[in-house]
Amino acid sequence: MSSSPYLMNTYQRLPVRFSHGQGVWLWDEQGQRYLDAVSGIAVCTLGHAHPAIRDALCRQAGQLLHTSNLYNVGQQERLAKKLTQAARMARVFFCNSGAEACETAIKLARLYAHRRNHKNALIVTMQGAFHGRTLGALAAALGPAESPFAPLPGGFIQIPFNDMNAAIEVYKQHPNIAAFMLEPIQGENGVRQADDQYLKDLRAFCDEHGLLLILDEVQTGVGRTGAWYACRHADLQPDVLSSAKGLGGGVPIGACLVNEKVAECIKPGMHGSTFGGNPLACSAALAVLETIEAERLCKRASELGDYLLARLRETLGSQTGLVDVRGRGLMIGIELDGDCRALAQTALDKKLLINVTSERVIRLLPPLILKRAEADIIVNTLTELLEQWSEACKQRRKL
Ligand code: PLP
Repeated sequence: MSSSPYLMNTYQRLPVRFSHGQGVWLWDEQGQRYLDAVSGIAVCTLGHAHPAIRDALCRQAGQLLHTSNLYNVGQQERLAKKLTQAARMARVFFCNSGAEACETAIKLARLYAHRRNHKNALIVTMQGAFHGRTLGALAAALGPAESPFAPLPGGFIQIPFNDMNAAIEVYKQHPNIAAFMLEPIQGENGVRQADDQYLKDLRAFCDEHGLLLILDEVQTGVGRTGAWYACRHADLQPDVLSSAKGLGGGVPIGACLVNEKVAECIKPGMHGSTFGGNPLACSAALAVLETIEAERLCKRASELGDYLLARLRETLGSQTGLVDVRGRGLMIGIELDGDCRALAQTALDKKLLINVTSERVIRLLPPLILKRAEADIIVNTLTELLEQWSEACKQRRKL
């Protein structure tokens, strides 16, 4: 099945077209059912066609879609209160995607430095990071490295992830550093987790030197790891936090959250978005947050994540080619010792949606409403898949 000749060639798509979904299940145009362990890349927090989101959207579409930020927006105010309380941050700016939330974070860090007469401020980012596809987000993740999109904006410097000595060293060499920016778990880089102690040490280091700590929780946020935001596992708050993906449960919305000291920097006219915080997206996000709370889905993500990790380790443990099974909550990576991108297609043939990131890591991001019996289907199908994969590896090694 070829994709449309009218679409730009930006994605290598699997040969399937879905017509509808329900819970963790999707149906293709031929009526075949698939278990969705990807959630549209950590987006469909409540699965598909959840009545809470459907009702919120229908109600809002019948009342008011958009007025702009020239006026007060009630739905935005209600969402802001709920989200800042959940994230334990002071204020929020709403946008439409994760990249925009990260761009906002970058602008705020520079503005914060500028207000303190800190010239040419640098933001330290991490090797292997991913913050989106806009130029600023690309520059943050890639630094001055060769890029077909060069010239990228400057002002970033990369260090190894999860390495406190590297953080201390870079600050010694570059006293004009204003902030550290990182994902608590690097999603696109193969579900690689920063240690809680590293995050605590980095927080303490930033406090000691008057630097900002920016956490990109676009992928890890909104219950995914078993807490509203992954920083809660390390019992700390960043100064700036970016969120998106799961926040709207499938409706595009991003958010940049800040504490008071960062919020104080910004004045009307310095940043904005036409669509950001519109009534429709905010209604959907409110429904998502209220449902996560009412159905205690953070706890469920944590318990089911532990269950999935334990079962995957138990059943896959002895497979040839398995390097690691890791993750937190319902963000799980299974690392293999070779390129396993083809497994996304093999899994599709078995009616399971998985994602392969960083070439060697199977990434599981099922909806937070996943049930134990559905988790078992994921484990059983993956066990079968990996048995075949290991067998094929052994054959290849013999040749
Ligand atoms: N930050 C992180 C950690 C992400 O995983 C992503 C997307 O994968 C982004 C930012 C960019 O989000 P978006 O694609 O919504 O712009």
